Amino acid sequence: LGRRINAAVQDLGKSNVVDEQALDALLKEVCSALLESDVNIKLVSKLRDDVKKKVDIKNQPSGANRKKIIQKTLFDELCHLVDGQTEPFKPKKGKSNVIMFVGLQGAGKTTSCTKLAVYYQRRGFKVGLVCADTFRAGAFDQLKQNATKAKIPFYGSYTETDPVKVAKEGVDKFKKEKFDIIVVDTSGRHQQEQELFAEMVQIGEAVEPNQTIMVLDATIGQAAEAQSKAFKESSNFGAIILTKMDGHAKGGGAISAVAATNTPIVFIGTGEHIHDLESFSPKQFISRLLGIADLQGLMEHVQTLNLDQKDTLKHIEQGVFTLRDLRDQMSNVMKMGPLSKVASMAGLGAMASQLPEEETSRRVKGMIYIMDSMTEKELDSDGVMFKEQPTRIVRVARGSGTSVREVEEVLLQQQVMANLAKKMGGKGGMMSQMKNLA
Ligand code: GDP
Ligand code: MG
Repeated sequence: LGRRINAAVQDLGKSNVVDEQALDALLKEVCSALLESDVNIKLVSKLRDDVKKKVDIKNQPSGANRKKIIQKTLFDELCHLVDGQTEPFKPKKGKSNVIMFVGLQGAGKTTSCTKLAVYYQRRGFKVGLVCADTFRAGAFDQLKQNATKAKIPFYGSYTETDPVKVAKEGVDKFKKEKFDIIVVDTSGRHQQEQELFAEMVQIGEAVEPNQTIMVLDATIGQAAEAQSKAFKESSNFGAIILTKMDGHAKGGGAISAVAATNTPIVFIGTGEHIHDLESFSPKQFISRLLGIADLQGLMEHVQTLNLDQKDTLKHIEQGVFTLRDLRDQMSNVMKMGPLSKVASMAGLGAMASQLPEEETSRRVKGMIYIMDSMTEKELDSDGVMFKEQPTRIVRVARGSGTSVREVEEVLLQQQVMANLAKKMGGKGGMMSQMKNLA
């Protein structure tokens, strides 16, 4: 899909006259590519009409700006398709926020529950997990394992068969213990069945969730529309988590789910590990759907990501580069999609050019896992404490399931960056000189 749209946009760039005919040709190409990628036909026709109306080519002055206007309008309208148009829920501290998950079996509910719990726990919330899946044998064990690994308190039962009862008991228990967030995992079925929807209604009435999240598998294509509509009727969810975005799926079907239910996607799942959860950004999603081919596109792409670079830049100005800075840079790289291109910008050039994209991605992820196994103090350090106490390296290797050598490589990478920061930062450094010039 990306290649076709890019080619179409580039064709537009090559032709000197950008007239109505050229615009129609571009839109035709974009639309058939979107259809191929499982976007619903009604949405595609609406997109085409909206872009045509907004561009209003007959009343545009000719010249280079026309191309820019067309590209920007197209991009904006595509983003508009997935922005859901409602504010997503934000949990408040000092009150028990109940978050209930719904979705078909295998969609990724149990996995995403733990990921979300970890996400909030890292942000200082006291989080508990409740397993209300009494349908599938082994469901409680799975949640228990996930929760134990992530050190999150959990509740469930091996003997109780009524999911409504377990859900209520678990939520009541955590409420009494003043938990900030209580995540309720529910069961699924292989198909959309009345029995499942009835169960969701009953659990919903029992636990009165502040937020219901539907988990949607990105690989299901066109089925996403009917599925999300059916769940919307029974559980009126307020947000979507789109899983399995790490594979080949571009999630075109999810666009239909968003449009059919007017509900925003809040996170995407990008792997099986507990940290493989990213905040959803329409711009990033569309960029991924389109594939970003040229550097100009990439630069704009990076700007749209709104990455959290402030702390790191401030550190570099001071001549410092901590392990946390390295971790942030690495996870930014992961967010940016087409890795080999971005990796070279992030100073991983040599690695990226020698290795296939998947391998680079695997290594960057490995480095992130290693840093996730460090303590807060270690992350905020310059790494010297690892030299002073090498047992720390052994502990981190064990915690992240890697080797001492791999941990040492991360520390080495951070040292390289720290030396660079030392040269650039500080009072007489390059950064301050550049600032003085400006
Ligand atoms: P549930 O039946 O809805 O609770 O689904 P599970 O959470 O048990 O997930 C079903 C399968 O999908 C498991 O093998 C998960 O590891 C896998 N899975 C879930 N989310 C993701 C994801 O974002 N990426 C990948 N690759 N696999 C995922
Ligand atoms: Mg499950």
